[in-house]
Amino acid sequence: MQVLGIESSCDETGVALVDAPADPARVPRLLAQALHSQIDMHQAYGGVVPELASRDHIRRVLPLARHVLEAAGVAREGIGLVAYTRGPGLAGALLVGAGVAAALATALQRPLVGVHHLEGHLLSPFLSADPPAFPFVALLVSGGHTQLMRVDDVGAYRLLGETIDDAAGEAFDKSAKLLGLPYPGGPALARLAESGDPAAFALPRPLLHDGSLDFSFAGLKTAVRTQVQRLGDALDEGRRADLAAATQEAIVEVLVRKALAAVERCGLDRLVVAGGVGANRRLRERLDDAARRRGLRVHYPELALCTDNGAMIALAAAMRWQRGRAAPQDRPRFDVLPRWPLAEVGGG
Ligand code: ATP
Ligand code: MG
Ligand code: FE
Repeated sequence: MQVLGIESSCDETGVALVDAPADPARVPRLLAQALHSQIDMHQAYGGVVPELASRDHIRRVLPLARHVLEAAGVAREGIGLVAYTRGPGLAGALLVGAGVAAALATALQRPLVGVHHLEGHLLSPFLSADPPAFPFVALLVSGGHTQLMRVDDVGAYRLLGETIDDAAGEAFDKSAKLLGLPYPGGPALARLAESGDPAAFALPRPLLHDGSLDFSFAGLKTAVRTQVQRLGDALDEGRRADLAAATQEAIVEVLVRKALAAVERCGLDRLVVAGGVGANRRLRERLDDAARRRGLRVHYPELALCTDNGAMIALAAAMRWQRGRAAPQDRPRFDVLPRWPLAEVGGG
């Protein structure tokens, strides 16, 4: 079965085609994908402007879909199922992908499946060279979410802990902004941190020892702001790099400690990292290090699949279809769910 996936929840338009064997033991294979990031467009505003995002998705999605089919050498009629991101995300942006997917599914007389964006992130490591096996603990670290989940199968997700305020990616982005770095600041802050000394500043590690699997990053942002104001003109290139390194270290340390605690609490030996912050080198370094010492396996998505993309949406729909859990929506009706907790997706 060839599954077309469309992602449009925020500021990336992604389209991809995967091929799924009927046997769920075999991982679907990515045939082609195309992505357009709106980062340049939103940069001038310091963040995503929802209305501009929707309009740009409209411009991009069909050319990207055409490109994907051409690259895969698959005719439109070869598509067996059409999937789109149903939520969570920006309502207007989601509606573009949903509308185009529903139109395609109707024209081709194929099932239409709405996918949970975070399920896409969470399953994206299955497209890597070293795919995980169920069950595992997932550390979901993206721009809008920071969650630890116990994952027993596709659709069997139990929330173990989550952030009570900012997400990890948001902490990276907001701290980066305070350091004068352009949006989205995560990757820029990570780059600046390479030349800094993480021990030069003592930043808080909220909830590190509270025994829960929850996170809190709002206080860290405040601490960074305080340091920036305190230093004023003394915040030269070297000190900026130090502060970036200290910020990254504070975020990464909390993520690593809590993820390891979650794996231990579940009695499992496998951790899956997903979402944009999963691209962070320091996070991977520290997790790999801890995993070696404790005899754990850690799986990551390919770097290009950490942030939003169509491949993860096509994959999630394909893996659901393989297990008979891809509940099709009635065509031509469809909906989007801008707020939608992952633990509620169920087994379909
Ligand atoms: P969500 O998936 O929760 O709806 P999102 O789709 O905006 O949010 P992603 O696309 O998964 O989030 O990830 C984007 C986030 O990842 C941004 O906050 C970005 O700064 C962060 N990020 C990307 N690369 C890195 C990196 N190398 N280091 C740290 N953060 C990074
Ligand atoms: Mg994005
Ligand atoms: Fe995302």
